[in-house]
Amino acid sequence: MKPEISIIAPVYNEIDCLDELYRRLRDVMNPSGYSWELILVDDGSRDGSTEKIRELAQNFDHIRPVIFARNFGHQIAVTAGLDYSRGQAVVIIDADLQDPPEVILDLIQKWKEGYQVVYAVREDREGETWFKKTTASLFYRIIYRITDVQIPLDTGDFRLLDRQVVNIMNQMRERHRFLRGMSAWIGFRQIGVKYRRAARYAGETKYPFRKMLKLALNAVTGFSYFPLQLATYLGFISAGVSILAIPVVVILRVTGNQTFLGQATTLISVLFLGGVQLISLGILGEYIGRIYDEVKGRPLYVVSEAPKDHIM
Ligand code: UDP
Ligand code: MG
Repeated sequence: MKPEISIIAPVYNEIDCLDELYRRLRDVMNPSGYSWELILVDDGSRDGSTEKIRELAQNFDHIRPVIFARNFGHQIAVTAGLDYSRGQAVVIIDADLQDPPEVILDLIQKWKEGYQVVYAVREDREGETWFKKTTASLFYRIIYRITDVQIPLDTGDFRLLDRQVVNIMNQMRERHRFLRGMSAWIGFRQIGVKYRRAARYAGETKYPFRKMLKLALNAVTGFSYFPLQLATYLGFISAGVSILAIPVVVILRVTGNQTFLGQATTLISVLFLGGVQLISLGILGEYIGRIYDEVKGRPLYVVSEAPKDHIM
């Protein structure tokens, strides 16, 4: 029988969190009266999480394990969870218990009121570095300004999606995924629920700066052409400056002023323009690389073990 609520938790080297994650979810979900399943997506863990997930799945019927052949990244792990989910509502939650399971009940409540997307808004974050908080906050605000969809501020992937939304999301097979943007793009009735983001239960972050940057680039390129247009703006600005500069230089020469003589001026302007051109090329490259990845049409992920009865 299909459960009413599917909970998806991506797992990458979270062995010390798994027992507690299941226990906390069970304590919230069992008394709620909803039938539920927990989809644990093992994203190529190497710390024994995989065996732990198998063991949990053997002991508890609620658990559906999806095991990747290697590490494919957090957004892809969640995507696989969505593919294998069966519930009428699907909740995405981090395995490290930073998203308190108790908040799920608030999400479900809003869903019952008729909202198809209920996202959890971080009012406060505990146990995270100043650097992480600042970069994250900056990231949300930049994305909000330059993308074409309204992606809510201070919102991670912790959210509830109605089956209708999940089905549409499952048809969006883009490779460089930014799920928050995708769920905002889909539309329907959306609402936020505030919560306090807790500190990690165990272990340390699996999102080093490199991965955060990659996610940010995916968010920007996936939902905006702004970086491509930047080259046009910069081109117009430098063309404008040179047009203004021509009469100035002519007048200075005629009046015998020596200000703009010498190599330094030439060198600086050549280097500046060279820089602008290389940056523009790099931006083009980012988009072209993404087009190339899409054209190859590879599957988004490879599973080594997964439930047989998936719908996709
Ligand atoms: N995660 C994953 N694959 C990765 C990196 C992270 O599945 O390549 C999972 C991780 O196990 C956790 C969630 O994604 O359940 C969020 O990661 P993390 O807590 O490290 O990120 P942070 O909360 O520090 O931003
Ligand atoms: Mg975390």
